[in-house]
Amino acid sequence: MRATGGCPPRPRNGLGTESYTTKIDAVWSQTCIEDAFCVFEPRSARDVSTSIGILRKTKTKFAVRSGGHMPNSGANSISDGVLISLTYLNILDLTPDHKVVHVGPGLRWHEVYTWMAGHNLTTAGGRFGPVGVGGLLLGGGINYYGSKVGWSTNNVVNFEVVLADGRIVQANSSSNKDLFWALKGGSQNFGIVTRYDMKTFAIQEIWGGTLAYPATSLDAYIHAIANFSSPHGGSADALAAADPLLLMYPNTSQIQPAAVLLYNAPVKEPAALEIFTKIPAASNSASLRTFTNFVVEQNSSSYWDRNNRRSFWTTAVKATPEAVYLANNTFFDTAIKEVSDLPDLLTSITFQTITEDWLDAARASGGDAIDLDPAEGSFLVLLISNTWENPSNDERVAKFSKNVIAQIEAKAKTADVYYPFVNLNDAGSGQSPFESYGKGESLGKLKSIRKKYGKSSFQESPSGLPLTLDSDPSGVFQALSPGGFKLGV
Ligand SMILES: Cc1cc2nc3c(=O)[nH]c(=O)nc-3n(C[C@H](O)[C@H](O)[C@H](O)COP(=O)(O)OP(=O)(O)OC[C@H]3O[C@@H](n4cnc5c(N)ncnc54)[C@H](O)[C@@H]3O)c2cc1C
Repeated sequence: MRATGGCPPRPRNGLGTESYTTKIDAVWSQTCIEDAFCVFEPRSARDVSTSIGILRKTKTKFAVRSGGHMPNSGANSISDGVLISLTYLNILDLTPDHKVVHVGPGLRWHEVYTWMAGHNLTTAGGRFGPVGVGGLLLGGGINYYGSKVGWSTNNVVNFEVVLADGRIVQANSSSNKDLFWALKGGSQNFGIVTRYDMKTFAIQEIWGGTLAYPATSLDAYIHAIANFSSPHGGSADALAAADPLLLMYPNTSQIQPAAVLLYNAPVKEPAALEIFTKIPAASNSASLRTFTNFVVEQNSSSYWDRNNRRSFWTTAVKATPEAVYLANNTFFDTAIKEVSDLPDLLTSITFQTITEDWLDAARASGGDAIDLDPAEGSFLVLLISNTWENPSNDERVAKFSKNVIAQIEAKAKTADVYYPFVNLNDAGSGQSPFESYGKGESLGKLKSIRKKYGKSSFQESPSGLPLTLDSDPSGVFQALSPGGFKLGV
């Protein structure tokens, strides 16, 4: 086990080395900077296995970090334990027939896409380059091709996982099938994934870019979202993807409508996205281009810098115009009412369309723990994202976010447009994604799978180190690794 920068005796007091600090700080949100006892950077699944044995034997707490983009404190950070950073688990390889790509959890999506483009291939990972492979795939994954291929995780054909007892196992459609199902949405409750094997497909020249609109276009913009997301709107074309977000500075009431658009074919201003492109934009980077070029452009956004505090909160509504207007108005009014005195706050609401075709594709691929029913229709995952600087505003921002969510949900229920789903990758601290999976049916199954795979099978780990045989080994990814979204007891 290699401790980077040593294990400073009291790093909390700032005694960490430069290397230690750089690694601790490698997160998207400053809310996730915590001084761990030390940073462990495994180079192989076997290293991970050994570390789990030691951590378990010594009852040492730990956190696991891939790309570090989950903004919830403790999800990828820890102050009273070891940080396992997966940075060096960065395999990128193709099977001989090029149908499957092996991807390490230490990679970010732009690295995966850039490398795969060299082979004229791509895969259905995250939409934005700097985000990590590891967390996104375990939480589902909204991607640009969902109406054809479902969640990103539905494109994983095999997970290599280190379990609580140190075993390194493969989970796929023929081996450890239940674990395979559970990892598709079940996050970090079962083990540490050391390799994802994903389906590939031929890369296309695409049309896409970011359009920013003047505030005066707000009405047309909201209309475009409502139109695109409705079942017969542009989202019915499986090649079209739109990620519209409304940015707002509550302190000045300044708003900025924007949309990232992508059409997965070389068609300029396609009909499916016309509802967005016909609104005169203040800036527009959309063009015919390679997918890699598109992803690299997304990397340069200031939205990626690491100098701020961030938070995510989410809920969902049915894909109807009424729901879009309701969510937008509630977000806007609550921000003005509750946080307009915070000069450092930038907040936004994003409308992410999940179509019936998407949910059909998820089931056709073999299903997942998220298990949403296509018969319930298309819906919108709403993301409330906040950026601010002053730690003393943490509570205010959290309270505001919870209120926005609570009010949207209450109004949506009254109007019968509520969609009961909490998207794990967009969820805030304290939200309960697993309870919303499979109409409440998945949680019990997930817990019994956790129990099954938490049981010790070995007296010794593969490295020969003794393991403690706890009465409940499944506690390794619960009590010893308390951060992130947990299944609960
Ligand atoms: C700017 C931005 C853009 C985003 N875009 C998208 C998008 O297009 N689509 C989408 O679905 N989501 C998106 N997200 C949300 C994103 O999927 C989640 O934040 C996700 O958790 C990030 O994964 P990560 O590996 O970077 O994060 P991390 O914080 O490193 O990991 C998240 C959680 O997963 C656990 N984990 C990570 N890797 C492993 C592993 N190998 N084994 C076991 N547990 C692991 C961690 O312990 C942690 O609890 C975006 C987020 C941001 C900030």
